[in-house]
Amino acid sequence: MNATQKMAWKNFQNTFPEDEDCLEEIIKYLNEIGWVFRCSRCNSRELRRKRGMRRYFCSDCHYKGWILAGTYFEFIRRSRLWLGAVWLFEHGVQINAWQFHQLAKCAYSSALLIFRKLGSVIQENLESMQEVDSLDSSEFLSIFWKRSNQTPIGERPYMEQEYFDQLLESQTKSDLHDSKNSETFEGENRTMELSEEEALILGLISDQKIHLDNICHLSGLYCGDVIGSLTNLEMSNLVERHGGDYYTLKQKKIEIKKKRLDVSVSATTQVKIEAFKDFVKSQIHGISRKYLQYYLAIFWCFEDRKRWSSSELLKACCRSTFRASRELFQFVTESCVLMM
Ligand SMILES: [Zn+2]
Repeated sequence: MNATQKMAWKNFQNTFPEDEDCLEEIIKYLNEIGWVFRCSRCNSRELRRKRGMRRYFCSDCHYKGWILAGTYFEFIRRSRLWLGAVWLFEHGVQINAWQFHQLAKCAYSSALLIFRKLGSVIQENLESMQEVDSLDSSEFLSIFWKRSNQTPIGERPYMEQEYFDQLLESQTKSDLHDSKNSETFEGENRTMELSEEEALILGLISDQKIHLDNICHLSGLYCGDVIGSLTNLEMSNLVERHGGDYYTLKQKKIEIKKKRLDVSVSATTQVKIEAFKDFVKSQIHGISRKYLQYYLAIFWCFEDRKRWSSSELLKACCRSTFRASRELFQFVTESCVLMM
């Protein structure tokens, strides 16, 4: 921990002296981005809750539920840790999970989970940026000093890159083989026929989350039919279901991948790569290849102070969805990485 981090944490504690202040701040921003708090049993919006309490009481069905259920913050126990980490990031205070665990006096595993979750939400925003650089992950080979569950047994951490490249090569070969042998695939785009209802519903869904009730209302179809069509669309990888029955279009990863290839590294990008390496070396010494993309996202947050200041990260979390820790653990950086 350094003096800047300690001072910033003191400021944070002064701004949010009580734990209930932290929870209410999160709820304030969930309200601001338009999250509709509903009873998870009867869908009613008539919820009663005392300030600082994580449980609500439904006036209609008398159910007691968790107010953060269905949100990015579902299952959090100590809102101070989450808001605190977000607050430090928003104030440009460079900190790693180990330092945060000491500063906030929490378990290292909790700090690590918070940092990975924040990394993933920033990365989600990075993917939606227009002027983002696409780079080969091997550009960062010199900072792969840490092992992960992807590092081949008995090998140095940087061998994870070679192992990954080999795996990708063999996968690409088998994909090509598959596409030649299957009539339902045309290149990378699967040709599929949609029913009239499915096409109508698909037209209502965009990148912005839409609630099931709204889809039923706008389509004029029976709710049961809508749910059936949504399940088909979800299985065809066209839409994505989020907590609380919200839907968005599925991000077309294949297109992103295509766009990423054939890009040579310009001089300005080279400068950014070096700046990122310096950041990693000074902050965390080294990283594992597996989590490279999250660190690139976090670096963007620290660098782009205009984009990520005053509550922007908190709002991004509120707009995002819950991720299980297992899902984060399974994350592996793709061969092409995104960098701002
Ligand atoms: Zn209820």
